[in-house]
Amino acid sequence: MLAILKEKKGPGVTLKEVPVSETPKGEVKVKVIYASICGTDVGIYDWTPWVAEKLTPPIIIGHEVVGEIIEINGQAPRLKKGDIVSSETHIFDNTCYQCRINNRHICENVQFFGYGRNGGFSEYATIPIHTTWKNDSRIPLEAMSVQEPLGNSVNVITKAGVAGKKVLIMGLGPTGLCAGMVAKVYGASEVVGLNRREYRRKLAKQIGFDRVLETLPEKEYGTFDVVCEMSGNIDTIQIALNAARIAGKIIAFGTPKKNVEFDWGVLINKEITIESVFGRRIWETWYQTSDLLISGKIDLRKIITHRFKLAEFEKAMGVMKSGECGKIMLIP
Ligand SMILES: [Zn+2]
Ligand SMILES: [Zn+2]
Repeated sequence: MLAILKEKKGPGVTLKEVPVSETPKGEVKVKVIYASICGTDVGIYDWTPWVAEKLTPPIIIGHEVVGEIIEINGQAPRLKKGDIVSSETHIFDNTCYQCRINNRHICENVQFFGYGRNGGFSEYATIPIHTTWKNDSRIPLEAMSVQEPLGNSVNVITKAGVAGKKVLIMGLGPTGLCAGMVAKVYGASEVVGLNRREYRRKLAKQIGFDRVLETLPEKEYGTFDVVCEMSGNIDTIQIALNAARIAGKIIAFGTPKKNVEFDWGVLINKEITIESVFGRRIWETWYQTSDLLISGKIDLRKIITHRFKLAEFEKAMGVMKSGECGKIMLIP
């Protein structure tokens, strides 16, 4: 089968024919129908320090997938052949302290599908039974692959508590775009998006953001009840602190590539609360995400802007890096 591999440490990936692996005990094998490229995959491609810490080559990359189960090796009472499933990215061990207190997404021994072990940028993939999510057939097939950015934003917006609040979304990549859509559905009074790229601002406006800004003008400092930092840019943290109202809340989601400097005094003087989000709550967020997709309150196809064959991965990565895109789909 064709697969995208991180064959060795360092930048780049390899497109290669590899044998279809056996289905390990406790896993299902799926025929991948769609996969989508995530910001993390760009980090994997570029070999950022964060990735270098977590990824030991060689592995098949890719963690946002939807596929059809063709084989089950083990007890899986909730699954059967032919089911259309997605994978939770955070593979939890179900035994550590955090797992036992219902924090499986921040498992102490978490492994990552597609960067800690083989993922799904390939024609076939295997997924642990306990991290396999069976999709509701009413959800559009392409959207099933894009549940990670939506789920992450559902978790961000739920934690923020946005009903009746003025919300700033910093960074309008797929997760930021999803966060804006979720904030509107969850009753935010105003959702403002911030991004340097015109392409992303246009897309945000199309999908329902009330306003979009290239930079935050000083007159808007101290006016946002909730600020969601989804960009991971090192210079946006100070802007987030400036943007937040006194006693406002900041949700940290984007992971900066370098250490960040900011004015600690602003945080204290404004009595700002900062909370962070690392992925989706398992499985609460998945149920919330499903409800949004089944009801049609959110249509993820609105943020899908490009589709490529798996063999065109390099081209897809080029578009991804240009920033002139929303979500990019791969078709094995
Ligand atoms: Zn991801
Ligand atoms: Zn655990």
